[in-house]
Amino acid sequence: MVETSDYIARLRVVGGDLALDFVNTVDGERDGDPGFEHLRSYEDLVAWGYRVGLLPEERAWRVLRVARGRSSEAEAAYVRALELRDDLYELFRAVARGKSPPSGSVEALRRAESEALSRARLVPGEEGFVWQWPDEDDLDGVLWPVVHAAIELLVSGPLDRVKACAGCRWLFVDESRNRSRRWCTMEECGTHEKVRRYLERRAARRKRE
Ligand SMILES: [Zn+2]
Repeated sequence: MVETSDYIARLRVVGGDLALDFVNTVDGERDGDPGFEHLRSYEDLVAWGYRVGLLPEERAWRVLRVARGRSSEAEAAYVRALELRDDLYELFRAVARGKSPPSGSVEALRRAESEALSRARLVPGEEGFVWQWPDEDDLDGVLWPVVHAAIELLVSGPLDRVKACAGCRWLFVDESRNRSRRWCTMEECGTHEKVRRYLERRAARRKRE
């Protein structure tokens, strides 16, 4: 087993898209500053990649070993990952609001995709060829599928189903048939919101009485 911090092991994976699950690795209030950070080090990034199935166990171990031997490179890769996450958040938050994404974020993603594809191979898949990243120890490798997922979402959609949680800063693809999903999860934000509204109603009733 890859050693996984508690805050990675418990992280809910509910974005419905790899790129949005990556955005959702930091908590926080809706439109507020970032709150609890789930990716606190390069090791956490690898553990997250393992958790969401991007890195098989053996490869995760190998990358961690490489990272331990090249700690300043791992640190730089970690910073790049957080920068990418900021760009993806700005980009898809704008999409969720029906606005044009900031051009700087789109450009940053385009550049990241150029880098990712330059490392990828095209191999036959089930319905056509697909991009595949070779099993290398490159420290940025965990991000490439994330970058590509973001490009696919941006290019092919469904952008009209990208939404922001009504209670926090997380983003998700609303796959419900009638597009009625409002929360990252009902347990986390939905229930909080219901309790908050109940307390508001009760306070308002007391005032009237
Ligand atoms: Zn939420």
